[in-house]
Parts: sequence; structure tokens; C-alpha cells
Amino acid sequence: MKGSCLCGQVAYEVSALDSPIQHCSCRSCRKAHGAAFNTSAAVKKSNFLWLRGELLLSEFESSPGIVRYFCSICGSQLIKRKDNSDHLALRVASLDEDPGQVPELRIWCSHEVPWLDYQSKIPRYSEWKPAQ
Ligand SMILES: [Zn+2]
Ligand SMILES: [Zn+2]
Repeated sequence: MKGSCLCGQVAYEVSALDSPIQHCSCRSCRKAHGAAFNTSAAVKKSNFLWLRGELLLSEFESSPGIVRYFCSICGSQLIKRKDNSDHLALRVASLDEDPGQVPELRIWCSHEVPWLDYQSKIPRYSEWKPAQ
């Protein structure tokens, strides 16, 4: 499967996801992604390959030994690396293809924002809300 950042200058390929997909609501993910939670899956380093733009990556160590990599041009979060781990955390929403599996767990719910409501029946639109 291939994935890329918003501007398209950084791209990668993963041969498999090596864990269930999970939503993480920790404060670091929320701030880094500008979203209520971040969706990730572990990928073995040997199953991950940068296709282009690796030199455009910026990194931020959000906790000791935990480094988040993102495109320095457009800001898309792509992977997280942890010291002494042979896995990366892939940001699943940066994939350009359907991984063929759905999230199976939510972690760091203790940090979840009070306004998140997974069950709500709020209106849905395929694109923008139509003008009144
Ligand atoms: Zn980019
Ligand atoms: Zn997190």
C-alpha cells in the first residue's frame, strides 16, 4: 500500500500493517494531529519504505525517545519512531489505499476530549454542507 503527505512531495510504501488499527486520544497525538484522536497501526521497519521526499521530513521528539515525523512543507504527520523498537507507528489516515481492516481499539481514553461523541447522529454530508 502506498501513502503520502498532503502536498504529495513525501510518499512511502508499506507491505503490511503489523498490528490492529487503533485510535489514540493522548494529548500529544491530539496536538500533533490537530484532531480529537490519531489513527495508527504498527509497521515493522522492514515493511516500510520511503518512495520520495525523505529529505523533506521534519521531526519532533514529543516524549523522550518518541519521535514524530512529518512533512516540513505541508505538515502531514506520517510516522512515529520509538527508540529501541523495530516497529514504526504508521499514521493510517495518510494511506492512499484502503488497508482492508477497521480500527479495533481506542487507547489513552483518559485524555479524550469531552466534546468527542462517537455515537452521535449529527447530520452527514458527502462534501460541504449545502448553502441554505
Ligand atoms: Zn507534504
Ligand atoms: Zn497518542
